Amino acid sequence: MVGRGLRLIRGLRLIVIRQLCRSFSEGNGVHRVLDAADACIHSAEVVAIVGRSGSGKSTLLNLMSGIDRADSGEVAIGGRIVTSMHEPERTLFRRAHLGFVYQFFNLLPTLDVEENVRLALELNGIRGATARERSAGILAEVGLGDRLHSAVDRLSGGEQQRVAIARALVHQPPLLLADEPTGNLDEETASQVLRVLLSLTRSRGTTLVVVTHDAWVARSADRVLELRDGKLIAGEAPLGRRGPDTERIAARRTGVS
Ligand code: ADP
Ligand code: MG
Repeated sequence: MVGRGLRLIRGLRLIVIRQLCRSFSEGNGVHRVLDAADACIHSAEVVAIVGRSGSGKSTLLNLMSGIDRADSGEVAIGGRIVTSMHEPERTLFRRAHLGFVYQFFNLLPTLDVEENVRLALELNGIRGATARERSAGILAEVGLGDRLHSAVDRLSGGEQQRVAIARALVHQPPLLLADEPTGNLDEETASQVLRVLLSLTRSRGTTLVVVTHDAWVARSADRVLELRDGKLIAGEAPLGRRGPDTERIAARRTGVS
C-alpha cells in the first residue's frame, strides 16, 4: 500500500547518504560532481539544498530518487538502499514513496488538471471514486478546487506548479523532492507557490528536500545544506528576497506590522 513499508516516525533518520560519488566523462578527463558526499535527513524535516549552478544539486536529487545511478556510495531511504535497487524495483519504490516537483512542472498536456493529479494515485493502484475524491480534495487545498477540468496549458505558471505540488503529494509519500520549484516563476508567484509547498508538507509531516536559490525558502527550512566541491556541508540561507518569515521577524523587531 502507498506510503507503507518505510519508517516514518518523526525525528528518525529518513535519508542517509553515504560517501556518494558521481562523475561524468568530459573530453579525455573526468568531471567529479559528487565526491564522497555524506548527509543525514530526518523524517518531517525541511532541508534546503543550495550551491552554485553546476555544483551537482540536480545530480544529487536524481541519485536520491534512483533516476540516475551512483558510481559508488549509497543513498538509503527509510532503510531501503535505493542505489542498489534494480529496475523495476526502483520505479515502484519511486512511484509509491516519493513525490517530485520540477522547475518546468512536467504536467501531461493531454490530461486535465484533476486527471494529472489522479494519475499518481492510479499508478499506485488507487482508482475510481476514492481516487477522484482525493485528487479533488488536494486540488482544493492548493486553491484550484474550481479548475478541476481545465486544460493544464490554460493555467498560469503558478497554477501549473500548484497542480504539480498536488500531484506530488496526493499519494502521501513520506518524501518530496523539489528541484528549483520556483526557478521559472516571477517573485510574487514564487512566493505563493512556496507558501503552498511549505504549508502542505509541514501539515502532513512530509520530509521536503528542496533545491532552491530562494533566500526565503532557505530561511524557512529547518536546515540548509550546501553542495560545494562535491560534498554536502552545513550551509547558510543566502541573503535575498524578503518573504513572510523575514517580514514577520522584522515587524517583531521594529514593532511595526
Ligand atoms: P546543478 O543542478 O547544481 O546546477 P547539475 O547536477 O545539473 O548541477 O550538474 C552538475 C555538473 O554535472 C554540471 O557540470 C553538468 O554539466 C554535469 N552533468 C550533469 N549531468 C550530466 C550528464 N548526464 N552528462 C555529463 N555531464 C553532466
Ligand atoms: Mg539543477
